[in-house]
Amino acid sequence: MLAEPYRIKVVEPVKIPSRKQRERILKKAHYNIFNVRSEDVYIDLLTDSGTAAMSCNQWAGIMLGDEAYANCRNYFNLKRAIKKIFGFKHFVPTHQGRAAEHILFSTIIKPGMIVPSNMHFDTTRANIIANGGKPINLPVNDAYKPFKKAPFKGNMDTKKLRKLLDEDSEKVPLVMLTITNNSCGGQPVSMKNIRKVSKICKDYGKPLFIDACRYAENAYFIKEREPGYKNKSILEIANEIFSLADGCTFSGKKDALVNIGGFLAMNDSKLFEKVKQRLILVEGFPTYGGLAGRDLEAMARGLLEGIDEDYLRSRIAQVHYLGKRLNEEGIPIIQPVGGHAVYVEAKHFLPHIPQAEFPAQALVVELYREAAVRAVEIGSVMFAEKDEKGKTKYPKLEMMRLAIPRRVYTNAHMDVVVEAHVKISERKEEISGYKIVKGSGPLRHFTAWFKPVK
Ligand SMILES: *Cc1c(COP(=O)(O)O)cnc(C)c1O
Repeated sequence: MLAEPYRIKVVEPVKIPSRKQRERILKKAHYNIFNVRSEDVYIDLLTDSGTAAMSCNQWAGIMLGDEAYANCRNYFNLKRAIKKIFGFKHFVPTHQGRAAEHILFSTIIKPGMIVPSNMHFDTTRANIIANGGKPINLPVNDAYKPFKKAPFKGNMDTKKLRKLLDEDSEKVPLVMLTITNNSCGGQPVSMKNIRKVSKICKDYGKPLFIDACRYAENAYFIKEREPGYKNKSILEIANEIFSLADGCTFSGKKDALVNIGGFLAMNDSKLFEKVKQRLILVEGFPTYGGLAGRDLEAMARGLLEGIDEDYLRSRIAQVHYLGKRLNEEGIPIIQPVGGHAVYVEAKHFLPHIPQAEFPAQALVVELYREAAVRAVEIGSVMFAEKDEKGKTKYPKLEMMRLAIPRRVYTNAHMDVVVEAHVKISERKEEISGYKIVKGSGPLRHFTAWFKPVK
């Protein structure tokens, strides 16, 4: 068993507020964890996005920021890294992933259009809706079986994709594929599935765009689990993935190990021209796109570090360590453990709380109350929606996500998280559900106010 392939050069002190303080903090935050101050959090597993520890090599790169308005040196370094890994003809930097989504969808979606995906992430879904489109999820059935151990539960149901294109082809401007599939538990998509989706897209003349936020972790799972890839490098696997697509949206805040940054890449030169015009309007000139030269450099270097196999092995091993320990303690988690996070299934953990009272939200609050650990709700607060008749439709999975920042915490921190779950489990009958007292819309989870039902 190998330890981390790095040593710690800089540390950032963290404190744990007392139980009484935590109670006060929760109340003041209206039981929405997004309102809690970072300095009041001991272990922050809210997200793995933008929370990575940069390397000394990246920090050195920050000092080499070329802050010229046009054609700065760092843009060309980033261009080289993107060419090497992704291989698309064109790209524009963006300040983060959702800006890439915004630019792509505002350029190619017209009202009434449909965008299918294995599963859209929340900002992707919201950006499609904001442009008058309809996001559609076509995951394989296994995605909804939280405890079934299948190797590639992130896959798209290709039969359903074909059916949708048979019926509604003219309404579909592009097909998306999220790797790894964040909204279904960080589960990977197999190369076989990517190839099939790509073939269907070609058959119907539709471009395939990959939401590539965690492509390196996905490539690592392909290497580990898919026949024929054991002896391929992560770079070779990534090259093969992107050779099957026409473009990608990318948040550098995940597998590029930066605190801010992203890009939109594509092969279509005509689309690129339109994208550049749109980019100039909302992000900036096409060679910096909402980022400083130093940020471009950190992302160029981070992209290359993010495909290092020793790094990926230790990264995934830490996430799986947390999953294994929770499993041993009988805490219901999504199986198998995904790439960037462990997901606790709250309907099973707190069966006495109905979905209308947000069991995953209750668990998030309880984890903070117990140990000042911050997690995030991925359940009814995020995904419940009203149908045409005004009846609320609840998502099939009610999850609390424990996302692990890259290169930040040790396994001793993971042990604290496990212990907190054990303590919560011992007193779970006392835990109340919640109601929303303020907040609506598809992004309400960021701002809603809650109150305990009891
Ligand atoms: C994070 C994420 C995004 C959005 O990226 P941001 O940098 O947070 O704007 C889009 N899709 C997926 C799958 C993500 O995980």
